Amino acid sequence: MPSTSHHAYDPSNIFARILRGEIPNKTVLETTHTLAFHDIHPQAPIHVLVIPKGPYVTFDHFAAEASAEELTDFHRTAASVCAMLGVAPGEGYRAITNAGAHGMQEVPHYHLHILGGKVMGRMLGHG
Ligand code: AMP
Repeated sequence: MPSTSHHAYDPSNIFARILRGEIPNKTVLETTHTLAFHDIHPQAPIHVLVIPKGPYVTFDHFAAEASAEELTDFHRTAASVCAMLGVAPGEGYRAITNAGAHGMQEVPHYHLHILGGKVMGRMLGHG
């Protein structure tokens, strides 16, 4: 289905290369359908990315077209990552996903940012 949708997936993106083992990553947790790893330019003391292994471009693409098994695995893995990082239960965290031009998405492979380890400030910056 992804190949016929309007979400054209570019397999040369950096997270696809990580999934193919072409470049290294600092893995937090890996499951059948999901990989969680540390962001290379952390914007908080804790900054982990959770990605599906399938070729999904954005949150809405993944939510619309992934299988129930992929969806469950992704969200259970994200929950496990929050527990492993000690943010939930704990002092809390922010989960963010950027999509497209207005979201200022840089890497066109769906990823959930999990940020924590400090008070994150107000939800949206300006500028
Ligand atoms: P976004 O702007 O939401 O697409 O976020 C892309 C994120 O990917 C940024 O926070 C980058 O620091 C991060 N990133 C880019 N390349 C790598 C990499 N090789 N390993 C880990 N994180 C990366």
